Amino acid sequence: MNPSRLQRLLVYGLLLPALLLFTTWTLGWFQPLEDELATWKARASPDAPTVVMVVLDNVRADHLSACGYNRPTSPTLERLVEDGASFTCDAYAPGSWTLPSHASFFTGTDVPTHHAHRVTDGVHLYDLPEFSHSRAALPLGDELPTLAQQMTDAGYQSVAVSANPVVSPATDLARGFSIFRFQKGRFLPGEEVLDELRTILRERLDTSGPPLFLFVNIMDAHNPWRSIPAGLGWVEQQDGFGLYDAPMEDSVAVRYLEGRMSPHEAARTMERIVDAYDYGIHVADRTLGQVLEMLQDHGWARKGMRLVVTSDHGEMLGEQGLLDHGRYLWQGIMRVPLLYWQKGREREQARLPRGPLSAVQAYHLALDGTCPAESMPVRSVAYPDMFWMELFKGRYGTSTWASVVEGSTKLLWRDGKLVRYDLDSDPAEEHPLDAAGSAALPRIRALVSSVQQEQTPRDLRPSQDMLQALRAMGYLD
Ligand SMILES: [Zn+2]
Repeated sequence: MNPSRLQRLLVYGLLLPALLLFTTWTLGWFQPLEDELATWKARASPDAPTVVMVVLDNVRADHLSACGYNRPTSPTLERLVEDGASFTCDAYAPGSWTLPSHASFFTGTDVPTHHAHRVTDGVHLYDLPEFSHSRAALPLGDELPTLAQQMTDAGYQSVAVSANPVVSPATDLARGFSIFRFQKGRFLPGEEVLDELRTILRERLDTSGPPLFLFVNIMDAHNPWRSIPAGLGWVEQQDGFGLYDAPMEDSVAVRYLEGRMSPHEAARTMERIVDAYDYGIHVADRTLGQVLEMLQDHGWARKGMRLVVTSDHGEMLGEQGLLDHGRYLWQGIMRVPLLYWQKGREREQARLPRGPLSAVQAYHLALDGTCPAESMPVRSVAYPDMFWMELFKGRYGTSTWASVVEGSTKLLWRDGKLVRYDLDSDPAEEHPLDAAGSAALPRIRALVSSVQQEQTPRDLRPSQDMLQALRAMGYLD
């Protein structure tokens, strides 16, 4: 072999591949370091404000004293407003029950985008022998980043205490939290939420460590309702009860909705429900106050605090002849509170804009304190509910709904029929108007089309966890 041929062989045969390998190896080696560096730079300092998101489950805005209700149901919210929090009674839940609305709060997206909601499909559901009254839902899945993941990526310790077992790993809503407390199969009263939180604050967290992102779901306003003690002065003492207390066919909900009560009994029943509900809200508001107090006692308020409080849906209290929630888009379900407070060293307190606001904004407010204001349309959807369809033999639970609210105009689409309500002159939604010519028409059409497109769901089998959770909530028997 002559020397020049040997040189070429060395250069092309050995050195070049070696160089190539070396370059690939070093790039591969440094890339994670660069990623690490970028993450480190983006990380919040230990002094970053504590971020708290609280969902008062099942709380409709118009039953809060903070929204002018005539019973003292929400002294904590009132105090927060007095202290400088921005507050609206005109926020709208994106979904009609726990799963879709929480998935929106955790991803900042509408329900037709994240798909976490109830589904109805005979073929799959009847495969499940334990189903008599069928109910299935799609969990969130792992396609969209969650608020907790993003807070964790930013250097926060993400912690959740959920009183509602629907907000749990079974529905993928625990994704991104490093500590997640809930009880399989039952919901936690406020006292137990506080016990869980106290234990975490004492044993797992340290204010000299990473900053805290805390999510709390409070269920005290949700059916079944607790007993009302004597001596409150604004509501009579009564025993606790639930809408679906057994036997199911003779439960309060079924007898009321099937019209099996005399007018007198129906009126008395509604009084009992409203009393129980209002006292439940009062307890939920008290639990919220105790959560904040506990954070303060453990030093988490010293760094400043970003607080967001909202609700995932309301409750029908006889309007339209209906009870409960989860199957309609009437105002009793949709209108929820939204509170935002930047306390301490953060930027100036942002004010929530006036007028109807999507409660999905809670996501942005918690994430970085911004409110993309009017740019986010006020859109909500609800889907058929097979449990109710079966329970009421097709009389209830069959509809698909979509709604857009702009100013005082509400466009409501239900199974292909579109109507308009003027919420100023007709807040009870008793006089449907022609929707033609409404400025919100393009928005409702776009929403309906996205609802129709996503009507063919993915795998419809709910997990055993989900079934158990729904059973504990009284949704299944
Ligand atoms: Zn809920």
